[in-house]
Amino acid sequence: MTKTASTAAPGTPTSASPAGSPAPNSASSAASSAAGSASQYSAGRSTVVADDVYPQYGDAATDVLHYGLDLKWDPDAKQLTGTAALTIRAARATDRFVLDLAANMSTDAVKVDGAAATPQRSGEHLTVPLGKQLPADVIVTVVIAYHGTPQPVRPPMTRGDIQGLGALVTAGGAVWAQQEPYGAFTWFPCNDQPSDKALYDVSITAPDGWAGVTGGTFQGRTEAGGAGVYRWHQPDPVATYLVAFAVDKFQQDSATGPHGLPITYWYLPSQAALVHQRTAKVPEMISFLEQRFGPYPFPTAGVLFRPERVGMETQTMITLDPGLPEDDLLHEFAHQWFGDAVTPSTWSGLWLNEGFAMYAQFMWDVAHPPARSSAVTLDEFMTSHVLPADQPMRTQDGPPGHFLPTHFASSNVYYCPALMLHGIHDALGDEAYYRLLTDWVHQHQGTNQDRNAFIAFVKAETGKDYSAYINAWLDSPTTPTIKPDGSGAARA
Ligand SMILES: [Zn+2]
Repeated sequence: MTKTASTAAPGTPTSASPAGSPAPNSASSAASSAAGSASQYSAGRSTVVADDVYPQYGDAATDVLHYGLDLKWDPDAKQLTGTAALTIRAARATDRFVLDLAANMSTDAVKVDGAAATPQRSGEHLTVPLGKQLPADVIVTVVIAYHGTPQPVRPPMTRGDIQGLGALVTAGGAVWAQQEPYGAFTWFPCNDQPSDKALYDVSITAPDGWAGVTGGTFQGRTEAGGAGVYRWHQPDPVATYLVAFAVDKFQQDSATGPHGLPITYWYLPSQAALVHQRTAKVPEMISFLEQRFGPYPFPTAGVLFRPERVGMETQTMITLDPGLPEDDLLHEFAHQWFGDAVTPSTWSGLWLNEGFAMYAQFMWDVAHPPARSSAVTLDEFMTSHVLPADQPMRTQDGPPGHFLPTHFASSNVYYCPALMLHGIHDALGDEAYYRLLTDWVHQHQGTNQDRNAFIAFVKAETGKDYSAYINAWLDSPTTPTIKPDGSGAARA
């Protein structure tokens, strides 16, 4: 998620084409694809744990391997009709799966391995009885037909730019989603916590003139009775909070990034000029990140532009207000490495996302100073601009390693861990620091990780024990004085 603002820089426009393109071949429905062999979804296997900040969402017995979502959006009725086929591994022995689904979304039918089941609804939980005790690791398919008008839920935040989480319906009949730390359950039944990553196949049906967008590879648009069906395949595991979703009157551009990376942009025609300014810099941004953190970690990239104020690192399809400063887009691309490829196991690890993306953003800012301002070194920038902000943030929002749960994504989880990383960068030098982060991402791609794993990895990779330093920066209520080598610690 974006944090800060700085000066934007203009770029050059690119060519545009109308939304949609012919499908290369006719695909079966996304939901029915769940009927295939469960082994093809083994990459969706996760080590599921209860969340330590928002345990009211998610079920540690449920490991969704794959979501097959067939969604239909009616802009006039503002109604979403969906069939969700979840291929679920029992993460431990259980006689039920407890999924998250907004109370206002009505379930029309539920089947477990083809047999009708009667779910229990309680608040935002949908409990699917399995009719028997299922041993751990057994895989079943749960198909849920549902419909309703999505309603956002209140964010556990104090920042003023995010009013609601989940799918948001506009006055004009469009729908789009932002859902960190939770809220995907407002538009599909899911295990809505970061530790359960899964694969996705999604089809979105919308009237002619409308386009349905999510993450992954766009497989094309087909016509079906006056409507368009947009099919998407996500080949890498994704946490629920990172699933992009929008249906609007989008135009589509296709572009090519570094080493032939396919990129798609989806935007409203009224924002075309601004969008083309932003997208002109995208190949340079990806190259900037690749030079430091290794190859872009996914087979496709994209940006879904929204007129609302949003900057979210939805995996392979960033959701962004094109009016945000240029470096906010760099920030969301940095998250593709930090947060998307490697995802925190629980929300207390949010610093693993935001600290790394913010520090990459600061690097970009220093390398691209605004016109008429004098250049500063990264160290000068961190010392003069970022460090003075550390203490007030800790006081207001808590230490970054255990932020106040009602202050999700406040400045503390951005700036304070960026300062911690700057200390490691300074101690190791460019080459070893970039190798450390490149290996962190590429050796853990597709998984969830936590603080202990990061500390152990730093020690294994560098031969240096920075545990006291890292823990102090994550836990201290005051700005630490400790250096990475352990010197300089304040006496208690
Ligand atoms: Zn962010």
